[in-house]
Amino acid sequence: MSVTDDSVLVTSPTTGAVWEVVIGLEVHAELHTATKLFCACPNSFGDEPNTNVCPVCLGLPGSLPVLNRRAVELAMRLGRALGCTVNDSTFARKNYFYPDMPKDYQVSQYDEPVNTDGVLELPDGSRVGIERAHMEEDTGKNTHAGGGGRIHDADYSLIDYNRAGVPLVEIVGRPDIRSAEQAKAYVEELRGVLLATGASDAKMEEGSLRVDANVSVRPAGSTELGTRCEIKNLNSLRSLGRAIDYEARRQIDLLESGERIRQETRHWDEEGGRTRPGRSKEEAEDYRYFQEPDLVPLEPDADWLAAVDASLPALPAQRRARLAAAAGVAPGDVALHVARGLDGLALAAIEAGGDPSRVLNHVEHNLAVEGAEALDPTHLAELVRLEADGALTATQAKTVLANMVGSGRSPGDIAAERGFEAMDTGALEAAVDELIAAKPDEWAEFCGDDERKRGKLTGFFVGQVMKATKGQADGKAVTALLDARRDAARG
Ligand code: ADP
Ligand code: MG
Ligand code: ZN
Repeated sequence: MSVTDDSVLVTSPTTGAVWEVVIGLEVHAELHTATKLFCACPNSFGDEPNTNVCPVCLGLPGSLPVLNRRAVELAMRLGRALGCTVNDSTFARKNYFYPDMPKDYQVSQYDEPVNTDGVLELPDGSRVGIERAHMEEDTGKNTHAGGGGRIHDADYSLIDYNRAGVPLVEIVGRPDIRSAEQAKAYVEELRGVLLATGASDAKMEEGSLRVDANVSVRPAGSTELGTRCEIKNLNSLRSLGRAIDYEARRQIDLLESGERIRQETRHWDEEGGRTRPGRSKEEAEDYRYFQEPDLVPLEPDADWLAAVDASLPALPAQRRARLAAAAGVAPGDVALHVARGLDGLALAAIEAGGDPSRVLNHVEHNLAVEGAEALDPTHLAELVRLEADGALTATQAKTVLANMVGSGRSPGDIAAERGFEAMDTGALEAAVDELIAAKPDEWAEFCGDDERKRGKLTGFFVGQVMKATKGQADGKAVTALLDARRDAARG
């Protein structure tokens, strides 16, 4: 079975059947508040276990929740950024037993969630629907010691309630995703929106962004959804991609051998590179939801909503569209620039007259360094102008750019100080001709018919010219000149 990155359909080598993979993601993001959702305990990661707790988040009898206004505001910001409708909403108790949840219920939103019906546009232009993005409280954190790190074979379990009651937003995506690559792009994009809105710090490695992947397969062309499995514990984009590919393969193999898919949760085993069965979900779990009696309905007024809308920053998709339009490229070509937060610099440099493709190229390849965002865009524009005019070689431009970062100095100053001057054409020709005369054997081979030898000798000749000119020559210009001389020699 081959599941390739670039093809959305999967062809089985044994049967020749063509399958489509269908993915819907549920993402939990911790809201970036100072305190928890229903009490004043600090919302902070990595503190001494069980130090950020109080009667409310420990679920002690008689304690009452007080809703955190900032959490609501962040949830609404995210909702609007995802193009959702922000509704009047209610909180509900989701009842089940687990040791990390001291109340034996989780306060969540059920049939009346705050945000519904949005969409997330990915850099490649594809769109993934958002069913809902509702608020809920996080649970504590279990550590299962001994055995395989899972509860059933543990010697004992430790519980840290610092995380209990931390505000979460759960973003339920529609089953619109068709490949592992697209799933990763979706999470990256969602992360960008969470960061841009300030809703979450979205750190997968600290668990403030957690992804569950629902995966099913169906014959290509079918419009019915297949039976899905939900994969838990995906704590990196790499795991997400690997788990989806593995799971799709597993399901296709089962179906092709005449078996059926059991709806269940599965766990990703990073070392084993496979998913393992967890809870069966064939019978829907009964959480006995009912409205939380200690909280009133949440009804944000029009002024609050308007203030939220007015305070939204430009989102990644808008920033990509803007830079792409200015540079005359596709939005997908500037995804990295935006993700690194260097789109403002690139845009300003282009607006200051810098050649767009040179600007984008430098930002993408030569500015993945600290302090790059503080570069003066007019300096970047000036640098690419010097390069375009032939006053600096590509190598020299890179060196100058590296010196510009953090120094605030202009490219002209740096180039002058380093003695960078482009060679004029006459001097370059002289250097090349001198070399040709000095290496007659190599030159004869270079002029021969063996393409592979010629490829190797190009590197040799360019290197020799660089050495002779102390790096002043432009590699591309040397190659062009060598080719011209060869054409002339061959007649
Ligand atoms: P649950 O309550 O079990 O989480 P939902 O109906 O809320 O079930 O769906 C949860 C997620 O599963 C959503 O992200 C949705 O996109 C995804 N999903 C639903 N059906 C399928 C399917 N057949 N294949 C893949 N993903 C699916
Ligand atoms: Mg679910
Ligand atoms: Zn508390």
